Amino acid sequence: MVDPGHLVLARKYRPRTFGEVVEQGMAVTALKNAADNGRVGSAYLFSGARGTGKTTIARILAKRVNCLQPKDGEPCGECESCVSIQTGTSLDVQEIDAASNRSIDNVRDLRENVKFQPMSAKKKVYIIDEVHMLTTEAFNALLKTLEEPPEHVLFILATTELNKIPETILSRCQTFAFRKVPLQIMQTFLKEICKREKIKAEDEALFWIARRGDGSVRDSLSFLEQSITYTEGNVTAEKTRELIGFLPTELYLKLTEKLLDPKSKFEEIVEPVHSVFNEGGDLQRFVWDYLDFLRAIIHILHGIDRPDFVGLPPTDIARLRDSLSATDPTKFQAIFDGVHNLLSRAYNLRLKNSYETRVLIEMELLKIKEKLARPSISGVLRRLDRLATAVDQGIPFSTEEEVQKTFLGTMVDPGSVPDLENKT
Ligand SMILES: [Zn+2]
Repeated sequence: MVDPGHLVLARKYRPRTFGEVVEQGMAVTALKNAADNGRVGSAYLFSGARGTGKTTIARILAKRVNCLQPKDGEPCGECESCVSIQTGTSLDVQEIDAASNRSIDNVRDLRENVKFQPMSAKKKVYIIDEVHMLTTEAFNALLKTLEEPPEHVLFILATTELNKIPETILSRCQTFAFRKVPLQIMQTFLKEICKREKIKAEDEALFWIARRGDGSVRDSLSFLEQSITYTEGNVTAEKTRELIGFLPTELYLKLTEKLLDPKSKFEEIVEPVHSVFNEGGDLQRFVWDYLDFLRAIIHILHGIDRPDFVGLPPTDIARLRDSLSATDPTKFQAIFDGVHNLLSRAYNLRLKNSYETRVLIEMELLKIKEKLARPSISGVLRRLDRLATAVDQGIPFSTEEEVQKTFLGTMVDPGSVPDLENKT
């Protein structure tokens, strides 16, 4: 069992030094060097997706510039200043959430506050999160401070939406883009955490957690935590997948095989829809995940087998390659187009409930099946290609009629139509 008194993983493993940050090498190196050389600017803007470490690194920088005894370019974590910043009690380091303090009055207060010297630290640090939420007037007021910043002030602005930041603000800040942590690096990181926490976890389980975490360390750790609790400390792929809502690959594989098999019954095709519906699953998500699955197949059949690229663990990739490599790849493209069409229709119709979604999915799957059963242009072309090869290799075709009979079926030879007009 998991120790109920343990710290939440995301908090416990929140980096406290530059060296502990996962990924973000460029930003971390640049900031660390600036601090080492005493050349920290007066305003930074950190942009990037949620959970990529923007405010974490802002806090580390705040500690670093105020630390009384930095060690190897890192904040010591022990001095009075580091401790007060770490515990959120420092009067000189303020974290402001712009989403709830977006008005001009908030920024006016800030501007008044900026004038005063720090209480005990070397620098007053203002970390303004979600800064894109500020109103235009508030941005203008902030700009005035950024244009003439007092010596003792450091601004760190953070945003998930860089495109919403006015050009005038951007030109006053040093900007760093924080990238999502790549899947494989996240998986390795999670493995290391499990080792330290003495948690048994299957690699594939960590793969799914990293995938669901979508580049965010915080989200990935939170999924890991949920999975540890759910699996009672034995993190298996099957249970983790269930917990975080990835349906088994087999389900999509079976659906695909049934769509491709001309002999399958309609009932077999709608069966997975029925089971997801019955278990109260999200059907729109089911359709989206199926589309993603088809993308994976198309990648695999084109020779791409990197798990981080395909989005599936190695075992699933091998299984899909074995099961589907003999099938004409254009058929998967046809299914993909059909499912994509289904998804956009579901979106455009703004379906109110899962029953409506179910009806739409069933009917669209039927259409896809019927379409696959019809001879396709590409099928005919492939047969022509085979014919051309046969001709090239000198395999004899006795007559033109035989070619017609074999490859073109219904095409009628004009010469064989009786000339009725000349009949007397
Ligand atoms: Zn310190």
